[in-house]
Amino acid sequence: MIADTLRDRIRTGGPISIAAFMTEALFDPRHGFYATKDPIGAGADFITAPEISQMFGELVGLVAAQTWLDMGRPGAVKLIEMGPGRGTMMSDALRAARTVPGFMDAAEIVLIEASAALKAVQAQTLGPSGAQIRWIDRLEAVAPGPSIILGNEFLDCLPVRQAVRHQGQWHERLVGLDPQDETGEAFAFVLGPPLAGDSDLIPARLRDADDGALVELRPGDRQVIDQLAARFADQPGRALFIDYGPAQSEIGDTLQAIRAHKKQPPLEAPGTADLTARVDFESLIMAGKSAGLTCYGPEPQGAWLTGLGLEARAAALSQSQPGKRSEIARQIWRLTDKEQMGELFKLVCFDSADLPPPPGFSAG
Ligand code: SAH
Repeated sequence: MIADTLRDRIRTGGPISIAAFMTEALFDPRHGFYATKDPIGAGADFITAPEISQMFGELVGLVAAQTWLDMGRPGAVKLIEMGPGRGTMMSDALRAARTVPGFMDAAEIVLIEASAALKAVQAQTLGPSGAQIRWIDRLEAVAPGPSIILGNEFLDCLPVRQAVRHQGQWHERLVGLDPQDETGEAFAFVLGPPLAGDSDLIPARLRDADDGALVELRPGDRQVIDQLAARFADQPGRALFIDYGPAQSEIGDTLQAIRAHKKQPPLEAPGTADLTARVDFESLIMAGKSAGLTCYGPEPQGAWLTGLGLEARAAALSQSQPGKRSEIARQIWRLTDKEQMGELFKLVCFDSADLPPPPGFSAG
C-alpha cells in the first residue's frame, strides 16, 4: 500500500516534500489514486465541467477549430489534450469541430495521460469518433508542428510544494510522521529547512509575507510553461487551460483531498482520494509572460462560456430534446453561476506570437 511505502521512505530518509507525497498518492503505478481506477463522475469521486454538460466540450471544440482557421488552416495540426480523464471533453469537442470543413482531415489527436485505467476509458469513449488517436507520455515527446493544446482540471493535480515563513525566512513544509501518534503511523506536516535556491517559485506578490504565512509553490506549472515556450518558439500554437483558483496569488493552504464527493484530511489515506491544490493564475500568467508567450486571462468560466454562445447552444439542444429542458438549464447554472463553477473556475490561454486573440477572452 502507498501509505506503507511512504512511511518506510520517511523512516529511512526523513520527511518528504508535499509534492513527493502527492506524486505517490496520485500516480503510483499499482496503487495510485489515478493509476488504478476511473474516479470521475456522479457515482465516483469528483465531477468536472465536461461531465456536467456536453455543451462545455462542444464550445471548446469550436474554439479549437477557430484556432486552426486562424493559423491559416495548416494541413496538419496536433490537437493535444493533457489529462483527458474519461475522454468526454475531446469526444464532444470533435463532434462540434467536425462541422468546420477540413478540420478533421488536418487534426491529429494526441492524449497525454498518466493513468493506465483512464487511457482505457478514453479509448472506449473516443472509439466511435473514428478519429485516429495517439497516447504520448510527455508534451516534449510530441513531434513538432502546429498545435492546439487543451487541459481541463489538469494543472490542479500537478504536485505542489508548500513553504512557511518562519523567523523571516521561507522554510519548506514537509510530510513526516506524527511523534504524538501512539501507533507511529500517522502522517503529519513538519517544518523543514530553509528553502534553498527555489525562492523564485514563491508567488512574487507574497515573497515578503509575515511570519506564519503559508504559500504554495507550483513547479509543475513552470515545467508546462517552459514546454509550451519551447514548442511555440518556432511553430504556431495555442494552449487553453481551465482550472480552479484565485485570479491573484493568495496566502494559505489549499491542498485538498476528495473522495466520493467529500473532503477528507489530505494526509490521511494516500491513494484513496484525489489530491489537488488551487491553481495560482497570477503566477502562471507571470511565468507565461516571462517565457515569452502571449497570455490571455484569467477569464471566469461563466463569462467565457456565455460569451461563446452557451445560451444559444442550450436553446438549440432544448429544442431537439424538449424533455431535457430543465436538465439543460441546470447544467448551465452549474457551469456559469457565480456560486457554482462560474467564477472559481477560470481560463487562461498561452499563444505563439502570430495568432489573433482567442475567442471568448475579454482582454489581452
Ligand atoms: N480533463 C478531465 C480529467 C480531469 S482529472 C476532465 O475534465 O474530466 C485530471 C486528469 O489529468 C486525469 O486524467 C489524470 O490522470 C491526468 N493527469 C494528472 N497529472 C498528469 C500528468 N502529470 N501527466 C499526465 N496526465 C496527468
